Amino acid sequence: MRRIGHWINGSTVDSFGSPELPVFDPATGTQQAVVVAATTAEVRAAVSAARAAYPAWRAASLSRRSEVMFQFRELVDANRKEIAALISAEHGKTVADALGELARGIENIEFAAGAPALLKGGFTEQASTGVDVYSIRQPLGVVAGITPFNFPAMVPMWMWAPALATGNTFVLKPSEKDPSASTYTAELLKEAGVPDGVFNVVHGDKVAVDAILDHPDIVAVSFVGSTPIARYVYETATSKGKRCQALGGAKNHMIVLPDADVEMAADAAVSAGYGSAGERCMAVSMVVAVGDVADPLIDAIKQRIPNVKVGDGMDSASEMGPLITREHRDKVASYIGSDEGATVVVDGREGAPEEGFFLAPTLIDDLRPGMKAYDDEIFGPVLGVTRVSTYDEAVRLVNENPYGNGTAIFTRDGGVARQFQFEVQAGMVGINVPIPVPVAYYSFGGWKSSLFGDRHIYGPEGIDFYTQTKVVTSRWPDPATSKVDLGFPQTR
Ligand code: NAD
Repeated sequence: MRRIGHWINGSTVDSFGSPELPVFDPATGTQQAVVVAATTAEVRAAVSAARAAYPAWRAASLSRRSEVMFQFRELVDANRKEIAALISAEHGKTVADALGELARGIENIEFAAGAPALLKGGFTEQASTGVDVYSIRQPLGVVAGITPFNFPAMVPMWMWAPALATGNTFVLKPSEKDPSASTYTAELLKEAGVPDGVFNVVHGDKVAVDAILDHPDIVAVSFVGSTPIARYVYETATSKGKRCQALGGAKNHMIVLPDADVEMAADAAVSAGYGSAGERCMAVSMVVAVGDVADPLIDAIKQRIPNVKVGDGMDSASEMGPLITREHRDKVASYIGSDEGATVVVDGREGAPEEGFFLAPTLIDDLRPGMKAYDDEIFGPVLGVTRVSTYDEAVRLVNENPYGNGTAIFTRDGGVARQFQFEVQAGMVGINVPIPVPVAYYSFGGWKSSLFGDRHIYGPEGIDFYTQTKVVTSRWPDPATSKVDLGFPQTR
């Protein structure tokens, strides 16, 4: 069976004797590989390599680090079909969707290639007589990233691209469920000219995560995953004095107002609810139908569902693939019919391929807060609908929800859309756009239980996260003006 090892100090490291975890083909349900799970010793080896590589990488010129980003971008582009197939084979998403993930990931490489412009500091001449003051941004040191299964190439790029471009060295702990994209990335980074030890990958589970959180040489941790683990990582990392940004789960509401274009809103709800089998943190999981739009909207969604082609992600005819594991598929399926008072309009347990971890698109009407399928992040192809009478009720639902990742409104009324943007409690807002993932030159992040920490990920806030500012006050003195002065320095 194929073994997937760690990547430490520029080469693959197997780890016989460590626990091995299965990697499945979700489309067939068969095991296709094993990934070795790092012990504390292996995490330490990766951190040592990153620490040893730091002084030289930190001293590399900004243009050298940018050049590496440009080289990597070309290599990913040249190999994108192979990488997309690798992602699809382990994650289950369609190859087209994996190519989309890569395209959005590459945006972050392009942004990071422009890091020199973003690292510019400020300069004040003559702050006091003969005194200049300037600020510079410097890297933090060895930083770590811990990532989820649902974007095995893109989410790591959100982290390592700005981290490396700003001069840090990196230890990545990707999801154990689809680990190959990270190892492939490591090989391409080496080919792009990244020196050994600058980028390391340790595979594994909680043991590896805890070893990262415990390690005194890791100064910052970026995490993306579910809310309970995000909270744990944030609390643990910060209690040990590390800088931390931990992005969690979501329950994204899409409000449809009575004046919306119903056909357009139905297309958006189906695309955003069932794309990638609903395993996106920006997926729409609740449609909030306001007033008399509910019946025509639900009819329009229902009509579209039978046309969604569910099948092996590697088959170019498929539009929606399987879920990541059997356990996850069963958990998602358990929400169907679980709430009294809710109406299952389309049951995805019927008509899904038998083999593999499939569940077909499911639509549940009449959900309300307090019901399990409303309150939980299901993370599968289950779209809920809740009916409300007014815009105010709809916004209250979003604002009272514990999550605040993304939200969207569908309307033709610019004034209402603007009011929504002003008052809604979420980090990313779509206006007639169902999945408002910010472009790379903005930053990504939710509010409330969707993010722990004070900086969003990638974009300008990513550059902030991976750098620290130093302010230099400088004087080239004239010996004639030298004297003892015990007073607090003042500008004169
Ligand atoms: P997860 O929380 O189970 O795993 C994320 C990472 O944490 C993995 O690397 C995993 O190995 C590790 N981990 C798991 N259990 C752990 C434990 N007990 N202690 C320490 N580490 C542990 O998440 P997942 O199932 O891989 O991904 C899906 C989740 O990620 C969803 O909740 C989704 O909303 C969220 N997500 C959020 C964003 C965002 O930007 N906010 C983006 C993508 C995914």
